[in-house]
Amino acid sequence: MLKLRSPVRDIPGTMSDLGCISFVSLFIPLCFVFQLCVVLPEFHEPGSLMFILTWIGGLFVVFQIAGNFLACMLVDTSIRATILTPPQEPQLRKLWRFCSLCETLAPIRSWHCDSCKTCVLKRDHHCIFTGNCVGYRNQRYFILFLVYVIIGCSYCCLYNCVYFWYLHKDIYLNSRTLMSLICPFVGFFFDISWKNVYLLTYELGFISLLYALILFLFHWPNVLRGSTTHESLSAKYDMGREQNLEMVFGKRWRLVWLSPLLESELPHDGVHWESLLRQSSKNR
Ligand SMILES: [Zn+2]
Ligand SMILES: [Zn+2]
Repeated sequence: MLKLRSPVRDIPGTMSDLGCISFVSLFIPLCFVFQLCVVLPEFHEPGSLMFILTWIGGLFVVFQIAGNFLACMLVDTSIRATILTPPQEPQLRKLWRFCSLCETLAPIRSWHCDSCKTCVLKRDHHCIFTGNCVGYRNQRYFILFLVYVIIGCSYCCLYNCVYFWYLHKDIYLNSRTLMSLICPFVGFFFDISWKNVYLLTYELGFISLLYALILFLFHWPNVLRGSTTHESLSAKYDMGREQNLEMVFGKRWRLVWLSPLLESELPHDGVHWESLLRQSSKNR
């Protein structure tokens, strides 16, 4: 059973976390409403089969984005959610390190995060958009959040390009649009209108797509290699592709893309990596 962080005590850790969480929380519904209520009726007749199918697809993608975002934010992947039992063998115990801030022996692959104020199991990095560290227990949600942001934003960018530059070129194809795209908030200063809100949504969709794509291309090779950002040059924990995927997405890794609510038990406790170190060196 996954332990959750306390929204009052733990979230958000810093002001920049708070800013980024607020941005994502506003942007997801804004983009969803614009796309399905403003853009979509211009492409497909309301009530037609394509209109209904696109609505169903949109609801599925936004459920995935919001669900994985919340799970990544709330699932506690820190050492606080675990009973730590250092190995008895002195040789293995030596691999653990003492964290003076947590005042405890911390397992290998865990690192202390100043924003979360705790050591995090198999820590990958601190994600400012969810205000939580990405580690052993929530990496699945982080990766799937990126995947669905890429899918959703790709759809938005494609449809929006046709909407702005072909269907409504009479309104948008001019120098004031260019100014609103370069400095969106200056555009609002001169003209508070839906036109500028739509342009901002269009622009943020592109930026989100690009950012999520870069993050995904950076993190995915590590997932396949069984490593974290801290270990990206080593293959110490590489157990083979299938087992590496299981280590991130759980035993039902083939199905987790269906829903963030789908339970998929992780095969390891996230603490005792010493045994895995021996195993992976035997495999090599
Ligand atoms: Zn610590
Ligand atoms: Zn953190």
